[in-house]
Amino acid sequence: MAGTGKVHLRDPGEVVLRVEDLVVEFPAGRGRKVHAVSGISLDARAGETIGLVGESGCGKSTTGRAILQMPPPTRGSVLFDGVELTRLRGEELRRSRTHFQMIFQDPISSLNPRRSVREIVREGLLIWPRGGAPADERVDELLQAVGLDPALVGDRRPHELSGGQCQRVCIARALVLAPRLLLCDEPVSALDVSVQAQILNLLEEMKRRYDLTLLFVAHDLAVVKRVSDRIVVMYLGKVCEVAAPDALYQRPAHPYTALLLRSVPELDTGEPAGGGPARTAAETPSPVAPPSGCRFRTRCPRARGVCSTTEPLLREVGADQYVACHFPE
Ligand code: SF4
Repeated sequence: MAGTGKVHLRDPGEVVLRVEDLVVEFPAGRGRKVHAVSGISLDARAGETIGLVGESGCGKSTTGRAILQMPPPTRGSVLFDGVELTRLRGEELRRSRTHFQMIFQDPISSLNPRRSVREIVREGLLIWPRGGAPADERVDELLQAVGLDPALVGDRRPHELSGGQCQRVCIARALVLAPRLLLCDEPVSALDVSVQAQILNLLEEMKRRYDLTLLFVAHDLAVVKRVSDRIVVMYLGKVCEVAAPDALYQRPAHPYTALLLRSVPELDTGEPAGGGPARTAAETPSPVAPPSGCRFRTRCPRARGVCSTTEPLLREVGADQYVACHFPE
């Protein structure tokens, strides 16, 4: 079955990453499957930041990891700069991964506690030596680029650093092999609010300085809006809406996007924006047995009969705005 449509994909000549009909399924016992990602298509121009947003369990992190082949998807195509990543095996696949790096949610636990900062950042160069500057020079250059003084932190262990400093080390480690695509998986959600803005600014700066394309995964629409050029909203393994940040915020077309936006707290009151409930009462259905038709129908206030029988495909509803809904807002 088709996924949720590909009308939002741009001309292949314009993009560096093109993902089509990505499917990730896991065995769930007794012949059942977890339908974690069900036919996702997306693309990215070189230097763009694509935000993947949705509630916990919507498949956004699994999508990001499947694009990076960590692990490879069950089905689908991932074309990066003309190379079909899903066909790579063994050494070719390992080598291709030097072009793709990840930044994780919890910076402290993603660093080896027994290694010094300098050893952590240098590790990739020991596995994949590169020409050019000596490894130590490259490590110090990157530590400075992420705002750390190599003389002060180079010999420290992760437990001697703050959460924000650890995330800076993670970013330096991710950049050491000069990747082209960076998957940022909830990179600020474990950090204090005061540090979040600094790390987001740093990622923006690194993107410009090192010509990176970013896949930015987060549950927080406010964070995603701030960094993204294009946002993909996901629900239960499917794409609901694709749009530029301003359009998505000002005119959300999918009932789920509208629900997410109403749940973003106002900065001054801490209350959900729009005064409405942060969530509908219904629980998110299980990805083992997702609803027929539109997967959001069990929580959707606009659902009608056709929503249970026919899957809505993405269609254009505005300039660079696409929605998969029979009755958009
Ligand atoms: S297709 Fe129907 S159930 Fe799905 S979001 Fe639209 S109105 Fe709601």
